[in-house]
Amino acid sequence: MLDLHVHLLGHMDRLATRENIREYLEQARNRKIEQIGFADHDQYWDQLNLPLIREVALEYPEIQVRVGLEVEYNVGRKQSIGEMIKSFEFDYIIGSVHEIGGWGFDYPSEEETHYQQDSDELYSRYFSLVEKAACSGLFSIIGHYDLIKIFKVRPKTDVRILASRSLEAIKDNGLVVEINTNGRYKPVQEFYPEIKLIEEMNKRGIPFTLGSDAHEAGVVGRDLGEVCQLLKSLGVKELQGFKNKQQVPFKLF
Ligand SMILES: [Zn+2]
Ligand SMILES: [Zn+2]
Repeated sequence: MLDLHVHLLGHMDRLATRENIREYLEQARNRKIEQIGFADHDQYWDQLNLPLIREVALEYPEIQVRVGLEVEYNVGRKQSIGEMIKSFEFDYIIGSVHEIGGWGFDYPSEEETHYQQDSDELYSRYFSLVEKAACSGLFSIIGHYDLIKIFKVRPKTDVRILASRSLEAIKDNGLVVEINTNGRYKPVQEFYPEIKLIEEMNKRGIPFTLGSDAHEAGVVGRDLGEVCQLLKSLGVKELQGFKNKQQVPFKLF
């Protein structure tokens, strides 16, 4: 079992201390997570202490501890993202889209704005950013692939059609998609991505990884056992872990 989407700093309500790191790793051990990856938001770059994670990891030899980063993809930031990524030996980078043209669409306060738009257009604009992120060469994993559904606004057109070009880009660029369980605790109440998109990805040969998107230690590993069962029932044979930007397969038993 893996969990590669864990926020040590939460929403900057916690610090990168030894005790905090241990709390996450204790929870990972209790939940029998073989590989855990810390991937804080790049906006907290100055508060990170990435070497400390590697140091505390030595106390837990039974767990593979990985260091990643969740990066907000934005065309204008491509260069600064590139520099950030090069400045540390990350195991992987998650590329996420939480903003469309400067609009931070996933905040609870933005729900109403979702209803006021043409849903197909909303999804198309979102997926075209995901496509650009996949083509940017910056990322190893696409985070919460269909986050745009967060407030349960559905497109009129089949989502697989709207998603098609971004899926092609993910496949062509060798990226991995995470099954992110946090969506269950948002208004949409389902994992990211939804099942028919997981099926479509599997058909296209896109590999998967797992992420709880935990913003506190108690959430590490949440619902991931259920995801493993689901993936197996869909015929998925393995998951991808990471080390030093390389994919490392985990058999799904
Ligand atoms: Zn995110
Ligand atoms: Zn996250």
